Amino acid sequence: MFVFKAAVVGAGTMGGEIAQAIAAADIDVVLKDVDEKFVDAGLEKARAVTKGQLDRLVSKEKLTQEQADARLEEVMGRIEGTTEYSSFGDVDFVIEAAPERMEIKQAIFRELDAVTPGHAILSSNTSSLSISEMAEATLRPEKVCGFHFFYPASIMPLLEIVEGAESSPETITAAVNFARKIRKQPITCAEVPGFVVNRILNSAVGEIWRAQEEGGLSIKAIDEGVAAAQVAPMGPFILVDMLGLDTVLHVAEHLRESYGESFYVHEGMQKLVSEGKLGAKSGGDGFYKDGEPQLEGDGEPDSERLAELWTLKALVEACLVLEEGVCTAREIDFGMMAGAGLDPRRGLFPPFMKADQIGLDAALEKLEAAAEEHGERFAPPVVLRRLVAQGRLGVKSGQGFYAYPQADEGEQTDTVKLETRGQVAIAWLANAPMNSISPQVIEDLGKVWEKVNEEGKVRALVIASAIPVVFSAGADIKAFTKMDEAGGKALIEQGHGLLRDFGRSSVVTIAAVNSLAFGGGCELAMACDFRIAAESASFGQPEVNLGIIPGFGGTQRLPRLVGAEKALEMNLVGDEIGAAEAGAYGLANRVVPDHELLDTALSWARKLGAQAPVAVREIKDVSAKGDLDEGIEAEKQGFATAFFSEDAKEGISAFLGKRSPSWKGK
Ligand code: NAD
Repeated sequence: MFVFKAAVVGAGTMGGEIAQAIAAADIDVVLKDVDEKFVDAGLEKARAVTKGQLDRLVSKEKLTQEQADARLEEVMGRIEGTTEYSSFGDVDFVIEAAPERMEIKQAIFRELDAVTPGHAILSSNTSSLSISEMAEATLRPEKVCGFHFFYPASIMPLLEIVEGAESSPETITAAVNFARKIRKQPITCAEVPGFVVNRILNSAVGEIWRAQEEGGLSIKAIDEGVAAAQVAPMGPFILVDMLGLDTVLHVAEHLRESYGESFYVHEGMQKLVSEGKLGAKSGGDGFYKDGEPQLEGDGEPDSERLAELWTLKALVEACLVLEEGVCTAREIDFGMMAGAGLDPRRGLFPPFMKADQIGLDAALEKLEAAAEEHGERFAPPVVLRRLVAQGRLGVKSGQGFYAYPQADEGEQTDTVKLETRGQVAIAWLANAPMNSISPQVIEDLGKVWEKVNEEGKVRALVIASAIPVVFSAGADIKAFTKMDEAGGKALIEQGHGLLRDFGRSSVVTIAAVNSLAFGGGCELAMACDFRIAAESASFGQPEVNLGIIPGFGGTQRLPRLVGAEKALEMNLVGDEIGAAEAGAYGLANRVVPDHELLDTALSWARKLGAQAPVAVREIKDVSAKGDLDEGIEAEKQGFATAFFSEDAKEGISAFLGKRSPSWKGK
């Protein structure tokens, strides 16, 4: 299922910007509301957002004013504003962004079911209502899912894709790929109140709201203190003013109704909302007016303590989300990064990464103390107790919620760290932020491989990522474009030589794929003898989108693993597949829960590392005999042809410039 035309129903706060995000990805979109004036307001919003984006490119001299003006009209030309359903007959994907009331949503879904083609996916941007109930209003519940943007939709990268009771895997995969197409970063989750990010955020911020009301604390001092304590990008009251007090209150009330007293509803906020003081959207009158707090309370907060309560409560809720199987640990942390602005590069860490840093034993102790002082809502979750019982204490012990390198002493390369554990070694990819496969990584991996083979003691090598949210996002396109033809060719030869060595060696190689393995990352994993995938993993060969072809064996090893048809599909379509699909097609040998990934990979390494070396080498070598080398030669030729084509130049510059390419066919 591919999306060539989309529709957004409801042109309010969210709808206009959602339509903009779709149009800016060069996909036609219909924007519908009940009244012309709402449609116009949505279109205005889309125009203003697009203009803002283009103005920034002009000021950075990436576009001329003329180009920006033309682009603005091009993007806006893709959005059709309407109050009718007459243009819905050929849409592929609909996002409903109407008011948060089930009867309105169900009525819209009933109408959509009748006016859109049967293949179309019907999704809702709801923050709190049941997707399954909306799906009941249609004859296609398997094609209904949540598609939850964050405010402001044109800026926030996260999309929570919510699985209703009957959403099919195909629907979810299509939604994930559509999300990527419109340059968003999706996580998938089960349908629970608040989904992932709002639930964890509300649970955590509720502790600050509670402390403020119980202690009559100054909201200004809290905002300043909490922001300075580096747990969240901004103070909790300023943030609510921006989001809209009514919207936040609605979610908070819904969460307390759903989960009980561990969620707090701020009474001061209720009062302000009842007075129509909604923050930015009501002329800047909310918790603050003209920079002055509108809530009573001048108590001096212990900001460090508040920040700690925030962190602890976020951890408890994140563990509960994990224990309930709503989504994976990586998705939770990633969601908090992309949806709540917890950016490790700014020193702000999502819950599990943060706990791993504090030390899980220390986090457990702090929670026990907090539970003693504040009650059950801080009770340490089972998953945390279990990890501590296993001695998984976070970064300091090499494993907590995530695995961390405990690199060997002595010389190490910059981008790949070697950790030896007897007969088994781990090559940790550590080329932050995305583990892109740069010339340096190929060089460093080569050195690590040499070292592993040097002494002949290591019998199995696990290739793992030192970065919790990515295995490898693919080749470092920028670095490759800087190379001349001869340099590029030499690098390709070197890379192929190394990967081919993996396949001929008596050392068994196992890729522990924790997350995204795209392009060169997927090819590196495929060159290993085995791939163990975490549930959060995904695989893809998106080179075609840049006008190039896989260059490290993707056209050769993929068909050998998944069959010619599926490989051709993946290489030509360029979309990603999730871990479950990768497992079903044989691209992943096993799919395991995220926190079991390294253990499973290591246990395979122990098992395989104990097999007879000569037999291992011969089995591997003869299994890959035949036409693999010939195929790789053919791929090298094809790669060179594609890489030095005008299309590749256009594709790569479009990718870097975040625009759609225009192919010339030469
Ligand atoms: P909004 O009230 O600003 O906009 C809703 C729009 O839908 C209005 O323009 C209204 O006229 C229109 N509408 C009402 N009935 C309609 C119908 N039958 N057909 C077409 N249009 C209709 O609301 P919003 O803040 O944009 O929220 C929309 C949805 O997005 C809600 O489900 C909300 O929970 C969700 N959401 C909101 C935010 C946020 O911060 N505002 C964030 C994420 C998700």
